[in-house]
Amino acid sequence: MKFINLKFASFAFLLLASCSNDEFISSYNDDNASMVTRSVMDLRYPLNSFVTTNSLNSTDANTVTSILDVLQGKYGDGYIPVFKKIATTNPVSEIKRGAISGNAPASYNPSTNIVTLKTGTTIQQNYVQEEFIHAAQDRTYSGGIAQYVGTTGTPNIEFEAKIIQEMMYYIVDGGGFGNLGSGPVYSDEYIRWIVAVCSDGSSETFPDLDKVLSTKYSNLGYYDFLDYFKIKDSQYNHNTIYSLRPQLIDYINNNYGL
Ligand SMILES: [Zn+2]
Repeated sequence: MKFINLKFASFAFLLLASCSNDEFISSYNDDNASMVTRSVMDLRYPLNSFVTTNSLNSTDANTVTSILDVLQGKYGDGYIPVFKKIATTNPVSEIKRGAISGNAPASYNPSTNIVTLKTGTTIQQNYVQEEFIHAAQDRTYSGGIAQYVGTTGTPNIEFEAKIIQEMMYYIVDGGGFGNLGSGPVYSDEYIRWIVAVCSDGSSETFPDLDKVLSTKYSNLGYYDFLDYFKIKDSQYNHNTIYSLRPQLIDYINNNYGL
């Protein structure tokens, strides 16, 4: 138990506050913050393998590539499946700078299949991982995710995207943001639930779907935390579909480390 407590301590230590509420109109706009870390490696999935048109200037493109180095290197066991899903099914049409409604620094629009990085913002790792997770969700859910934008099902899509990132941070770093998918209440229970979901005896693993859906902490489970999460930000606060399973988690689990 001491091991878990140490993990939990570092997990909580890395808490970062999320930004302001965003108007949520036509795309999955996100209000996240992250740090950019750099490393050097050969990318399994370079940008042009999963994005058809790169409209970024060279500085921005280099920043995104350095983020891809981290996501496909340090966090590669989990994120390589995300990029693999996009590259091997249907690449994102374009990545570009542009205007985004509200305060969101990045968005993925499943109708246009475009990732937009808000003009003037510093590109952060978390923006890249979240928006391409949404793109991978679009290729995983039957009928895509455009049907859920700004309406019933939005919290399902967003909560899955948040906890995927959370679990990857936890498994690799023993810590993470700790608040990406937490609501205004039960945030401590949420963190401990993430730890429980990823714990497999004495090690940490990316869980299978059954484990995500069956694990409880303090009698709270996946759809309980989803419903607390969605009231954090108004753009996420739409009806939950309790029969809609977090299917990208299943895909990542089946392709984890491959
Ligand atoms: Zn999102």
